[in-house]
Amino acid sequence: MEKPSFPPECNRREFFRWAAGGLGVLQGEIPGNGPEILDTHLHLWSSGWGARFLGFRREPSPPWLRGAPERLRHNFGLQEYREAVRGFSVRALYMEVDVAEKDLDLEMASVRRVSEGSGGQVLGAVLGGRPDAPGFAEWVRRCREWQGTKGVRRVLHSGTTPRGLCVEPAFVEGVRQLGRAGLTFDVCIRPGELGDAVRLAKACPDTVLVLDHCGNGDAKAFQKKPVDQPAHTASEWQRGIEQLARCRNVVCKISGVIESLPKGWAAEDLAPVVNHCLDAFGPDRVVFGTNWPVCLVGGTARAWIHALGEIVASRPEAVRKKLWSGNARQIYRMS
Ligand SMILES: [Zn+2]
Repeated sequence: MEKPSFPPECNRREFFRWAAGGLGVLQGEIPGNGPEILDTHLHLWSSGWGARFLGFRREPSPPWLRGAPERLRHNFGLQEYREAVRGFSVRALYMEVDVAEKDLDLEMASVRRVSEGSGGQVLGAVLGGRPDAPGFAEWVRRCREWQGTKGVRRVLHSGTTPRGLCVEPAFVEGVRQLGRAGLTFDVCIRPGELGDAVRLAKACPDTVLVLDHCGNGDAKAFQKKPVDQPAHTASEWQRGIEQLARCRNVVCKISGVIESLPKGWAAEDLAPVVNHCLDAFGPDRVVFGTNWPVCLVGGTARAWIHALGEIVASRPEAVRKKLWSGNARQIYRMS
C-alpha cells in the first residue's frame, strides 16, 4: 500500500482516502506511519481491586470515579492505552487524575513506576498537587527528586472546587514556586472563569501555565441547533481565550473538545473551538492531548486524532509538527 502522508494537505475526498489508508495503519500494516505524537494528557487509573497499577496493593483510584459514566468505570492501564493508540507513533505524559489528597504521594510513586517500566513511552508526569497547601514548597522539592516530574495540576473545574480558588494569595504563591522550580501548572477551569486564569497568569509571569482542553470550550456553542444547552456562549469563550493568549506565559492544550459533543460529531463540529485556539495562541504555544480515557465519553482517541488531523490539514507541515509534538518537547524539556 502506498504510504499516505499524515495529516495530508488535501481536499475532503483525499482525506477520506487517507483515512481509509489509516485503517491499514491502525491494523498495523504500516507501523510507525504518521507524525510523531506527544500526548500531553494521558490518564491511567484502576477502577477497583487488583494490582493493575503495577503491583501496588493500594491503588490511587480517584474518588469521583464512583459517580462517573459507566464507560469510565474500568481499569485503564498502559496496556489499554497502547491498544487505544496502536499504529500511531505516540509517547505520552501522565496527567494526574484528581485522587484524594491523602493519595497524592501514592499517585506519584505509582506513575513513576509506570513510567520507568514503560520502555520510554510514558516520559513523565504532571502530578496532582495543592499549591495553596502549607508545606507545598517541600512537596515540590520531593516531586523533583523524580526527573519525570514536569508540572503540577490541581483541577479547578470540578463541582467541589470553589470559584476564585486559583487567585487566592496562597494559591498564587504556590504557582509562583512551580515556576521557580522549572515546573508548569495545568489550568483546568470552567469556561466561564477564564478571567481568573488570566489573573493567575499575570500574577505568575515566570510560571508556564498550560490551559487544559481549550479552556473547556463547549463545541455545542458553535452548532446551529445543539441538542443541549452549551455551557457558554461562543463570544464569551472566544474573548476569554483571546485574553489568555495575550499572556505570553500561557500555552493552550488542544484536547477535550469531543467530550462536549454527543455521539455522531464530525470534524467540522470541533473546528471552531480548535481553530480559534490555534489562531489565538499561534503555532508555538499549542500542544496536543488525547485526554484518554476521559475522551471516551465523546469518542475514541483514534477518532480524535483523525479529526484533528483533518482540521489542521491545511496548515503548514512545520506548524502541524509543533502541535503534535515539537512544542510539548520544548515546553516540558524532553528529548
Ligand atoms: Zn483529563
